[in-house]
Amino acid sequence: MFAWLDEGSRVVRGFTDRHDGHSIGAHAGLNLGSRVADDPAAVARNRAAAAAALGVPAGNLVFLHQVHGAQVATVTEPWGPEDEPEADALVTTVPGLALVVLAADCVPVLLADPVAGVIGAAHVGRPGLLAGTVAAVVERMRFVGAVNLDAAVGPAVCGSCYEVPQQMHDDAVALVPEARAVSATGTPALDIAKGVLAQLSAAGVSARQVIGCTRESGNLYSYRRDGVTGRHAGLILLRPPAAPAHRPGRHHPG
Ligand SMILES: [Zn+2]
Repeated sequence: MFAWLDEGSRVVRGFTDRHDGHSIGAHAGLNLGSRVADDPAAVARNRAAAAAALGVPAGNLVFLHQVHGAQVATVTEPWGPEDEPEADALVTTVPGLALVVLAADCVPVLLADPVAGVIGAAHVGRPGLLAGTVAAVVERMRFVGAVNLDAAVGPAVCGSCYEVPQQMHDDAVALVPEARAVSATGTPALDIAKGVLAQLSAAGVSARQVIGCTRESGNLYSYRRDGVTGRHAGLILLRPPAAPAHRPGRHHPG
């Protein structure tokens, strides 16, 4: 159901796959997307399962209306579905909120400074890579106090599977050379995750990548493979600081 990272830390982050969900048909599995024509009741059950796995109420999952841009939303309290801002990254310093980014080939990125208590999440596709979503979310996190940031980069469509027109390829690699790729048939392609890793490195953020190609794995949603399909997610949660250890009272003899 989930690949969890950061066990034992103040930060919990993970990436979902399709296992153990309630959606059926084209969305079969753990679809967490509400804008992909799936049964809303099934999506609600899937989201409740994801929240339960994180140990938070379903209402504490914070979603965006993702639009392939570079807008960053700062979150201080949960919002309802009708209030989701149009943005592709979100940042919080509030414990108990779980930030969610949805994807089905695009790159989910989960960032944290567990010591400063700042977390962030971003959805980065080709437009977001070129628009500077990574730099924008890193800048916002530092603005609210992050110092030592690291990132987990989730599964996405790989370079071999992401063929694009020559001009689109050229325009992208002019801005982000590291995204240059060649498809399995030898045509121009892009590796968005490699581009994201390069942007994180340029921003001074260490990163680890959860390997996996969405298009090649039946356990993940892939828009490029299936068209009508669901969305898996990257989720990140900041836990409250650990309470100070109880100091036993001094024993006063006599
Ligand atoms: Zn692939």
